[in-house]
Amino acid sequence: MKRSIIVGNWKMYATSIADAHVLTTAVRNGVAKIPGIEVILCPPSIWLTEISSIIKKNPKSFLGAQNMFNEPEGAYTGEISPLMVKEVADYCIIGHSERREYFGETDFDVNEKVLAALKARITPIVCVGERKVKNKPDEPVRELKEALDNVPKSRLKDIIVAYEPVWAIGTGENAEPEYVARVVSKLREIVSDSTPILYGGSVNSKNIKGYAERPEIDGVLVGGASVRSGEFIQICKIWSDTKAIKK
Ligand code: PEP
Repeated sequence: MKRSIIVGNWKMYATSIADAHVLTTAVRNGVAKIPGIEVILCPPSIWLTEISSIIKKNPKSFLGAQNMFNEPEGAYTGEISPLMVKEVADYCIIGHSERREYFGETDFDVNEKVLAALKARITPIVCVGERKVKNKPDEPVRELKEALDNVPKSRLKDIIVAYEPVWAIGTGENAEPEYVARVVSKLREIVSDSTPILYGGSVNSKNIKGYAERPEIDGVLVGGASVRSGEFIQICKIWSDTKAIKK
């Protein structure tokens, strides 16, 4: 059976440990009985350790970092290493467009991080997406090829791809499911059938059904809506219902 993956990228929200606790507990409990989905929560890294102890109580919820450095250790003030992430989490978002835009991450950096994640047995959630011009899949295709440079074919099953058109992130202007399915099919040619490919960009409980109806799309990466527990749980529920996943 194909995997159904819902990632919650909290970005730099949930600014107190109490908020992080409440949000995690609500989501963990809310998704516990929703069949067939894997939920990956990606809180700010400072909350990872605390949240891992809450998540452990539900085998359906997993933990991911939002970013990491590619070196295992060293004099890199302010960074976290793959070895540190692996202590508490099994996933890491790599190459999110906000990292590329505000922190100058290049395709080369993204590739280094993907290789480092795989080496540390962390599943990278590799984000690609065109910046401005809609309906131009060449950019995400090029980004994905560069992100996966030197990745052996045998490791493609250990990667998740998130197609996130930058113009759709945080704008309320989600991409049409049919268009997303077309781009996903192009990205699919670069990876393997066992590489999940997700969509991200202004996903909410009103538009999730359209993505779940497309067999090409294996899940979603949710940003803003993932810090509202009721909305996030509803997204997970509608995905599972639409896919008619049985208990
Ligand atoms: C994201 O953070 O990758 C994202 C898709 O955000 P949003 O859902 O808010 O558009």
